[in-house]
Amino acid sequence: MDLRTDCLVAGRWVRAASGASDPVTDPATDQPIAEVPSLARAEVAAAVDAAWDAWPAWRSRTAADRAAIVARLGELLLREAEPLAALITREQGKPLAEAAGEVRYAASFLAAAAAEGPRVRGETVPAALTARRITVLRQPVGPCAIITPWNFPAAMITRKLGPALAAGCTAVIKPAPQTPLTAMAIAELAVEAGVPAGAINLVTGDAPMIGEVLTGDARMRKLSFTGSTAVGRLLMQQAAANLMRISLELGGHAPFIVFDDADLDAAVAGAVACKFRNAGQTCICANRFLVHESVHEAFVARLAEAMDGLRVGRGTEPGVSVGPLIDDAAVAKVRGHVADAVTQGATLVRGGEPVRFEGLADRFIAPTLLTGLTPAMRMHAEETFGPVAAVRSFATEAEAIAMANDTPYGLAAYFYTRDASRLVRVAESLEAGIVGANDATPSAAEAPFGGMKHSGLGREGGHQVMDEYTEVKYVSQILTDATT
Ligand code: ADP
Repeated sequence: MDLRTDCLVAGRWVRAASGASDPVTDPATDQPIAEVPSLARAEVAAAVDAAWDAWPAWRSRTAADRAAIVARLGELLLREAEPLAALITREQGKPLAEAAGEVRYAASFLAAAAAEGPRVRGETVPAALTARRITVLRQPVGPCAIITPWNFPAAMITRKLGPALAAGCTAVIKPAPQTPLTAMAIAELAVEAGVPAGAINLVTGDAPMIGEVLTGDARMRKLSFTGSTAVGRLLMQQAAANLMRISLELGGHAPFIVFDDADLDAAVAGAVACKFRNAGQTCICANRFLVHESVHEAFVARLAEAMDGLRVGRGTEPGVSVGPLIDDAAVAKVRGHVADAVTQGATLVRGGEPVRFEGLADRFIAPTLLTGLTPAMRMHAEETFGPVAAVRSFATEAEAIAMANDTPYGLAAYFYTRDASRLVRVAESLEAGIVGANDATPSAAEAPFGGMKHSGLGREGGHQVMDEYTEVKYVSQILTDATT
């Protein structure tokens, strides 16, 4: 695949007429990779026009037709898995093996959407009047604004775009400024897959301006956003003016509870997978380890040992499991959280320091393990979004549940136990949209991913996702020749 660096509007690949552009850099080296357009307001508005104009024809295609195109897009992602993974690693930094995993994960959402699209069903309802017939239809909601973050440059797009297209919606995509190139590559594959001109559009440039245009036009019927709670809240306010339908996947602050009856080997393996994937930069990464006091010492010792096996480095290097953080602000935040915890009495068991490599940017942080986490520490309240595991101990199940739920977030929560009754009790008590019970990597296209409380609204994946891209309409019909 050639490196695509343009926006897609109404089926044409475009640069900004003004020539304005923004750089995309490799987070591992700080070296520029490409310049992408910084579109003007009117150019973003043209994408809205295109999505609106393309909608009637796209929604009129059969669900099977649309599903075939969405499925084909998934196949094309897999065909181009190698170059796509390399591109993800280049602009986002994650290790190549993880990037390849993301491509497969991204493709799985397209396959799932292709399967779910033709299964969107209406119903008939027995009416209370003899002459009345009530038919319930599900119809595409309309042009969708899709705004995505940088941590999963491919998957965060496909899990919105797949169901949107399959349902009969059109889209304007705004990728994260750090990772627009993967989005552009996917858009190019969408064209090859047969998505018609205007059914998908991709814009880059000033984020607040694009957000205003996409939420400020009443023809845009739906906003699907993944990103920070602060921006999600702002976009929800903006979208309120047009009462846009919204799906928000926001921040998380996942507790990871290890009970005294847990299989500690499984808990440690799960902790490593859950915490250090993408260098800790996922919204469902464990952010607070709550460990029963009787197994605290053993768990910490085994986790520290397992962490010694993690290799930090550039994502392109074979065997690397922890890549760079996305940018300097991310590094500053993680280091600030660690310094704050240590100042407030936490014990540093492993890491805590930057790792420096000749010729690479100063973005690498050693996998870090802290004990003695307390509620006063910043990392107890805020998402760290870095390779830092902080542990706090607890004495009773009730205390663990109270600690776990003591956060405004409610995306993922994990716990390890071998007690069947406890498993059910705890799963039912946790205030999170995704509960991993002895499962530290629960994301899957067939499951309804999403958060409670400040972690968002709506669900992505599962059959539930089709509800997000369809409207319910009922037709109440009186049979005019009926006698009763
Ligand atoms: P993160 O902190 O992970 O970068 P953000 O919420 O800032 O998360 O970004 C997620 C996405 O939201 C990105 O595509 C970003 O450009 C976009 N974004 C940020 N601010 C705005 C805004 N005011 N309006 C629309 N999109 C925005």
